[in-house]
Amino acid sequence: MAQADTASRDALVDRFGRVHTSLRIGVTDRCNLRCRYCMPEQVEFLPRSEILTFEEIERVTRVACLLGVRKVRITGGEPLVRRNVTDLVARLARLPELEEIALTTNGLLLADHAVALKEAGLDRLNISLDSVRPEVFGQWTRRDVLPRVLEGIDAAMEAGFDSIRLNALAIRGLTEEEIGPLVRFARSKRLEVRFIEFMPIDGEQRWERASVLTGAEIRRRIEAEFGRLSERSRPDPSQPARDYVLPDGTRIGLICSVSEPFCEACNRLRLTAEGQLRNCLFSTVSWDIRHLLRSGADDASLMEMMRQCIRAKKRGHGTDDPTMLRPDLAMYQIGG
Ligand code: SAM
Ligand code: SF4
Repeated sequence: MAQADTASRDALVDRFGRVHTSLRIGVTDRCNLRCRYCMPEQVEFLPRSEILTFEEIERVTRVACLLGVRKVRITGGEPLVRRNVTDLVARLARLPELEEIALTTNGLLLADHAVALKEAGLDRLNISLDSVRPEVFGQWTRRDVLPRVLEGIDAAMEAGFDSIRLNALAIRGLTEEEIGPLVRFARSKRLEVRFIEFMPIDGEQRWERASVLTGAEIRRRIEAEFGRLSERSRPDPSQPARDYVLPDGTRIGLICSVSEPFCEACNRLRLTAEGQLRNCLFSTVSWDIRHLLRSGADDASLMEMMRQCIRAKKRGHGTDDPTMLRPDLAMYQIGG
């Protein structure tokens, strides 16, 4: 039977009819920054033996492809601190069903890896950049390394990636003044910049509803300074951002995960660095696929676990509900 037939018959469809075609892979919980909204300064990292090997990640991805997964995003923690992560990209690029391999990075090691990642088959890069002002960047990330991140962005552009996007976190009372400089920076580089609402998955549990700088407010601020934002059509309805363009052509995205959740279009399955499947960033339940991998389970058992995980997915993540319980893991542990 052709792969496509297998995929459509066995597709990862949940109780609400959502078809899951995207896998987020956390490859490490370690990081070379300590962004205040993500990771505490002192962290106990997972021992190496608990982290999935590249062979194990490749196997999970291959099996997920049999169930219709077509896109992966490699993330973490900081994926570029995982030794030889380029080899993982190359392995995944050899899976015939995968149509897209993307990676989210803080950019700090990108100048060293950009060319090799491109050659290994990486298609898209998201680079997190919350401020282009060195002192603010240093306060947020607790590391004074903005110039190195900017070099990483330049290196990625020179390496010839078709799609490079900047991701900036938006927090009320902290980041309003970063929006204008970030838009100007993105314009000067001809890159898209996306602003992401602060979500309650911060390692220090400081999130509160009042600290969410909403997409609507960001939009007002951008329009006041740069002119009207026109909405762009979405080629992929499952992608979380609302896409806009400024009169000068600068592309802006708003990810309103808290104020306007986009759960009805969610198509993501998640694999944490320690080999746990999750069906949502905000879930508190895991499916231990590492145990299956390490106990000689066959592909059919892995598929069944993926199906169970997706069948248990809730309609929405609930961050718009004031009674929501906080997730048990922070963003760097789940794989943001
Ligand atoms: N280290 C890489 C990076 O920073 O791009 C990849 C992992 S990081 C967890 C992925 C994304 O999650 C980053 O863009 C970061 O801004 C975002 N993030 C982290 N904590 C967040 C939070 N509490 N709310 C919203 N986004 C968050
Ligand atoms: Fe590290 Fe990314 Fe979390 Fe910042 S957001 S601490 S770079 S994992």
